[in-house]
Amino acid sequence: MGGVSEHLLAGVNSELARRVRNMAAALSARGIEIRITSGKRSTERQAALYANRASNPYPVARPGTSKHELGLAVDLVPTGARSSSISAAIGEAGEAQGLRWGGRFSKPDAVHFELPTSGGDLVSDGSNVGNQSQSGLTDVQIIAAFGIAALVIQLLRK
Ligand SMILES: [Zn+2]
Repeated sequence: MGGVSEHLLAGVNSELARRVRNMAAALSARGIEIRITSGKRSTERQAALYANRASNPYPVARPGTSKHELGLAVDLVPTGARSSSISAAIGEAGEAQGLRWGGRFSKPDAVHFELPTSGGDLVSDGSNVGNQSQSGLTDVQIIAAFGIAALVIQLLRK
């Protein structure tokens, strides 16, 4: 199968692997070959990536929150020329297989594809907060922090 890296596919969920192979075949028919750069990761590997996230061109989830640690995600790139149209074609090929494409995340991760976690339905973006939050704060914590800051400002004015 063209540029698909079988050794990285071997470690991931078998349904994800099946869909990625279908995706690779559909893309190959259009002259686009893909190569997997990351499959299943240990929590130690995720922690190492997270520690070095400042030098990573792509978002890195906190250890314990990545779909890669569950074998439910792969990162893949074209083996040939890269362009926004090729990236979009790859993203759409993944979505045609029912995969969630990181290119649509609020913090885009164009190389990332993951298996939806429940029954083939796409999960809401809320489930992806861990992938997107670089600060480590939840929305509730951020709102609470702003509330406290506003209270302090009011007290200082008195
Ligand atoms: Zn990824």
